[in-house]
Amino acid sequence: MSSVSQERGGFFDRDRETLDWGKRREALSRKFLDIFRFAMEQSEAYRRLYGEAGIEVSEIKGLDDLEKLPILRMEDLVERQKKDPPFGGLETVTPDKFRRIYVNPGLIWQPGEWDYDDTSWAEALCAGGFRKADRIINTFNYHLWPLAFMLDESVKRIGATVVPTGVGNTLTQVKVMQMLRITGFMGTPSFLMTLIQRAEGMGLDLKNDLHLETAIVGAEMLPESLRSRIQDKVDMLVRQIYGTVFLGCIGYECRHARGLHVPDNIIVEVVDPQTGKQVPPGASGEIVATCFNRTYPMIRMATGDLSTFSTEACPCGRTGPMLKKILGRIDQATKVRGTFVHPWQTDDVMSRFSEVFKYQVVITREAHRDIMTFLVELKEDSARPEILQARMERAIKEGLTIKGVVKIVPRGSIPDLHRKIEDRRSWE
Ligand SMILES: [Zn+2]
Repeated sequence: MSSVSQERGGFFDRDRETLDWGKRREALSRKFLDIFRFAMEQSEAYRRLYGEAGIEVSEIKGLDDLEKLPILRMEDLVERQKKDPPFGGLETVTPDKFRRIYVNPGLIWQPGEWDYDDTSWAEALCAGGFRKADRIINTFNYHLWPLAFMLDESVKRIGATVVPTGVGNTLTQVKVMQMLRITGFMGTPSFLMTLIQRAEGMGLDLKNDLHLETAIVGAEMLPESLRSRIQDKVDMLVRQIYGTVFLGCIGYECRHARGLHVPDNIIVEVVDPQTGKQVPPGASGEIVATCFNRTYPMIRMATGDLSTFSTEACPCGRTGPMLKKILGRIDQATKVRGTFVHPWQTDDVMSRFSEVFKYQVVITREAHRDIMTFLVELKEDSARPEILQARMERAIKEGLTIKGVVKIVPRGSIPDLHRKIEDRRSWE
């Protein structure tokens, strides 16, 4: 076997983890200490940030001290970039060591490392089902921002072939899929659906004219209803990846899709957004992560996304932490009759009813009073919908502390890509 093919195959050993979590946590602790000290030596901004918080380098000895460090928010990063352009002093190498400079929406600059050596996305792609013989279209946008490049590099790492199609050009993309016998898709779930509909419109037989086996989707929410529609139509697996451009991959689904496994090469916490303290497994909070990027390190960076650590083991055998699904954004809460209602709370209530296919909460205002209506599609018609309705309304009152009305609506009434809580109040 040549060294190239060994390298191409080597990554798959990681499909099932062999090291237990305790040992890996020790390794992560050492890596954390290393990146923390490196940032303190090399970055003006980190020295100032931790200096202002009164933190001594010597008191940070490992992962157990992580919570002592302040949370870094996107707003802080933007503020620092404005004051100290372009990178805000968070960079840890001189500008001649940047391979690329990425431009994120809002003109937020990001220096890209010379050698992309983060294995997290590759780990995610493998777990989702990509293999070295695969031929994959990367439909993420290659312009300006880094995600498409990170995934492109990661496809190389697992030894598969990438076709850098980028976003748009749906006719061309469908032809590429058909003629090059593409087996893998990377992109947003909504763009995947667009391509499928385009292929149908062109009269293709999705199961025979296309050869798709696995789609790895990200950058937006994947409603379960959309996942099952795609999987049924095309006879392929759709698996999610989750991350941010500054932190890289934070979680991924394996073939069992029980939650988002945290990659080996990142530290992920779920914290109370007010205090920055970690919440216990099973409790929900904001996802905060620390990555080991030695060009633009991100230490305890907040994502604005809500999740909870799962307390269940996944049948795939991975022993590390696993996030349940992303519950929404911390800023997505809607105030109804003076009470905040978060999408993760309404999910929590509705998940108790196995009869529910999908639902949406609509907030309206009648006679100067907020009305919260749960539109619910059922998996099967119910013989006694009024009983189910009453049970749901009781659960809503218990779970959210305010009254909600349940309306059972026909299948197909709620659009695939909908806001979980839609505010239709007009304040005129
Ligand atoms: Zn798993």
